[in-house]
Amino acid sequence: MRRTLSISRSFILLAVVSCQIVEAARKPNFVVIFCDDLGYGDLGCFGHPTIQTPYLDRMAAEGQKWTNFYVGASVCTPSRAALLTGRYPIRNGMMSAKRRVLFPDSQGGIPASEVTIAELLKSQGYATAAVGKWHLGHLPQFLPTAHGFDTYWGIPYSNDMDSQKGFPGYRQMAKKDSNYVAPIEQFNVPIVHDTEVIERPADQHTITRRYMQKAIEFIHQHQDEPFFIYLAHSLPHIPLYAGDEFLGNSRRGLFGDVIEEIDAGVGSILATLKDLGLAENTIVVFTSDNGPWLTFDTHGGSAGLLRDGKGTTFEGGMREPTIFWGPGHVKPTVQREMGATMDLLPTFCSLAGFDPPNDRLLDGYDLSSLLLGNTTQSPRDRMFYWREEELYAVRVGPWKAHFITQGCYGREPKREVHDPPQLYHLEHDPAEEYNLAELHSEEIAKIKSIAAEHMKSIQKMENQLTK
Ligand code: MG
Repeated sequence: MRRTLSISRSFILLAVVSCQIVEAARKPNFVVIFCDDLGYGDLGCFGHPTIQTPYLDRMAAEGQKWTNFYVGASVCTPSRAALLTGRYPIRNGMMSAKRRVLFPDSQGGIPASEVTIAELLKSQGYATAAVGKWHLGHLPQFLPTAHGFDTYWGIPYSNDMDSQKGFPGYRQMAKKDSNYVAPIEQFNVPIVHDTEVIERPADQHTITRRYMQKAIEFIHQHQDEPFFIYLAHSLPHIPLYAGDEFLGNSRRGLFGDVIEEIDAGVGSILATLKDLGLAENTIVVFTSDNGPWLTFDTHGGSAGLLRDGKGTTFEGGMREPTIFWGPGHVKPTVQREMGATMDLLPTFCSLAGFDPPNDRLLDGYDLSSLLLGNTTQSPRDRMFYWREEELYAVRVGPWKAHFITQGCYGREPKREVHDPPQLYHLEHDPAEEYNLAELHSEEIAKIKSIAAEHMKSIQKMENQLTK
């Protein structure tokens, strides 16, 4: 009798221990929610006075709100390449002075030699999904399913491409009426499922809701295994569309309706993770690919107190409102240290317990210690601001030197080379208003030497955007 008891007690003990091992071995899930052309000032929790983002505000309060978080480029295609590969896009041919992004007639895309976050996580047993705008090549060899994603559902390039004749000029209409909604037939953009076109033109009125639903379906389907979802919203890039439930609700007008719909979708995704008991083992990141498209005036977003927007290397083009959430991992705080989308690749590797690739130069840093609250200092102390195929500016600590400046899309300032470079203290002057070059030549010398070292590491690849 005693022996039986002892055996069953051992069995229970063994079962408990093996459950703990399984629990400890379960790698964290990752969800990246990536907007398009969202400005630093476009969320309630980043100071917008009329756009309401209660779900993102709560996400920021429960997680880490990052106030110095960058993208690898100030336009769509190169910025996306940077996030997924952990490298400045100048290293993989995804930046060009002739064509700034990929177009429906482009023959290039993300090279097969690049390693994406999805490929790395997939090799570790993750289920992987891309939902939304891709913009890293629409030919089959460049689509998400050829770059580590098990499945894809979304538009292969920007929502204003495949523009059709016979419609009023969008920019003129939007400038006259910031609530202007174009007929969906004007932009004959397809929806692709894996590699097949399943809808054309995409019904963009419902697209934000459908992206969110696809992400939630994937979470349900893969709740028993580790998963990675890259949810790249095609909005608030123009043309703007909002679902019926949101249209006309925001005091900010149509642009606000769009953001408030994205916000509600974030709320649904976080609620799903909580309902399924996955919240403690999931990390959700919210950010955007580049700053606001200012040439659309009140129809586009706002960089808040930051200077300029999409297309430029001023802060408004490349600093993004960013939130990390993960109740089991991320220590709640306002994070004022530096980070960048290129850091996601090494950070996810670290959190999932494996090494990033060592056969190439990565530009990302492992931010996991900052996220977990084990340190207060970021391993990232510098940021290189590339525009097209030139290094325009460099930040080291709080100091940023502009070697070249240029406004977005034909706006002032026209391209100007600065010698000595303009120098701004970004912690005292985030709006880049007060050039301190004459007072701090030692900071300029330091940044110049770091820039020269960086340039030595650049080996340009075949350009993918001009193919
Ligand atoms: Mg964009």
